[in-house]
Amino acid sequence: MITLALSKGRIFEETLPLLAAAGITVGEDPEKSRKLILPTNQPDVRIVMVRASDVPTYVEHGGADLGVAGRDVLLEHAAGGVGASSGLYQPLDLKIARCRLSVAVREDFDYASAVRQGSRIRVASKYVHLARQHFADKGVHVDLIKLYGSMELAPLTGLADAIVDLVSTGGTLRANHLREVEKIMDVSSRLVVNAAALKLQREPIRRLIEAFASALPQD
Ligand code: ADP
Ligand code: MG
Repeated sequence: MITLALSKGRIFEETLPLLAAAGITVGEDPEKSRKLILPTNQPDVRIVMVRASDVPTYVEHGGADLGVAGRDVLLEHAAGGVGASSGLYQPLDLKIARCRLSVAVREDFDYASAVRQGSRIRVASKYVHLARQHFADKGVHVDLIKLYGSMELAPLTGLADAIVDLVSTGGTLRANHLREVEKIMDVSSRLVVNAAALKLQREPIRRLIEAFASALPQD
């Protein structure tokens, strides 16, 4: 049995065509079903639905053999460092769920002069490790506030001056009168594989990796 960990939303939807290229179809829609384990048309392949930020943990500890996770989640997981992520092999950038990790502030917040004057900036994020690294590299002093969702709300309520969050079109920021002021990194989702599983089930896992690779847009 091969177990693949996915999360709901963009990652699940954009992984489906890659699975199809490997001859794998999923019978159920996780948005509609309450099932956390989804069988596929292949009796020896199943999908487990987990929270996006839990995918590296599942794969690292063998709860799943493979998974698909954003670069954001993988880097934040590695920086969190509850044990080195040595058991996580990353063979492939799937180039799906593309977005960027950025700093955003309220439209009326003068970020440039706050930075220039060396003010302490209060930053709210789900990505506290990546945010800390970014501002440390710039020599900007920050107080970090950990959030688990709805980051956009933080500057609007006075909880924080800035947020570090994912942006794709910028529509959510605009709808909340926020402005993107710095891109930290480009993000896409990667395939991650449990190193021990790769040794034990080398052939089926290699076939899956190759089918995914051949289904990627060439660029
Ligand atoms: P959560 O479970 O915390 O709500 P999300 O569903 O917001 O997580 O995001 C899951 C993953 O999908 C992120 O880690 C990221 O890699 C990707 N992602 C999130 N937002 C976007 C976006 N706007 N555009 C493209 N990919 C995104
Ligand atoms: Mg979300």
